[in-house]
Amino acid sequence: MGICDGCHAGCCRTFAVPVTGADIIRICRATGLSFWDFVCRWADSDGHIAKDIAPHFHFPDDPQTPFVIALAHTASEVFPRTTKCRFLLECLPDPTHPLGQGRCQVYAHRPAACRAFPTKFDETGELALLQPVPEHARDANEPVYRLCPRPWEPADLDPVETPQSLAVLRYEMAFFGKVADLWNRSPLPWSAFPEFLEFVYSRRILPTASDEAEPSEAFILPLPRPGGTFRAKAA
Ligand code: SF4
Ligand code: SF4
Repeated sequence: MGICDGCHAGCCRTFAVPVTGADIIRICRATGLSFWDFVCRWADSDGHIAKDIAPHFHFPDDPQTPFVIALAHTASEVFPRTTKCRFLLECLPDPTHPLGQGRCQVYAHRPAACRAFPTKFDETGELALLQPVPEHARDANEPVYRLCPRPWEPADLDPVETPQSLAVLRYEMAFFGKVADLWNRSPLPWSAFPEFLEFVYSRRILPTASDEAEPSEAFILPLPRPGGTFRAKAA
């Protein structure tokens, strides 16, 4: 039995999960939900959510505050005064599971940060390293915020999938960092963010050199790149 089997999913209740543009687009496609159904911006002045991994975005209505783009939380329907990831399905408590059980409703499409938990790359950048999970990382008076029932062990994770999940997380967060650099040069209102993401991510594939005829309405998407810019055709 896996460590998460039968768990109340304290992790999905405790953490603000940073997402990338790729996570957002994949979940929208898979679920039919819109950006506004599950994405929020979390103020992160102390950097506790970004953890030097997720980028900070700025917005004109609060220009001094750095925000992390993350999964929205909703109120728990089972445990009053607590919140949870809006994708967490809560099963009612029973004698065997006094805090109930949690199920991710988008498990196959969950964000890269969820897939990689609780690992990071070791110093070689090639192997996954388990990180210790504390007993609590949010209000310790609420039992439902309790985290994992025991320390993780290497056997709890798939040795093929886990490093691959970390590689995707590293790549997509690095790309999202460049997207943040572009956004923060001239931030638009939060309401414009989904359209901006669509604009950027629909232009991540460049044509082959032979196909690269000069488009009549060419523009340069100025993502920082070594030796050049990100060039794409206008839609
Ligand atoms: S997306 Fe799924 S795994 Fe990730 S925090 Fe939400 S419920 Fe948990
Ligand atoms: S709290 Fe720990 S054991 Fe429970 S679902 Fe989350 S990662 Fe798995």
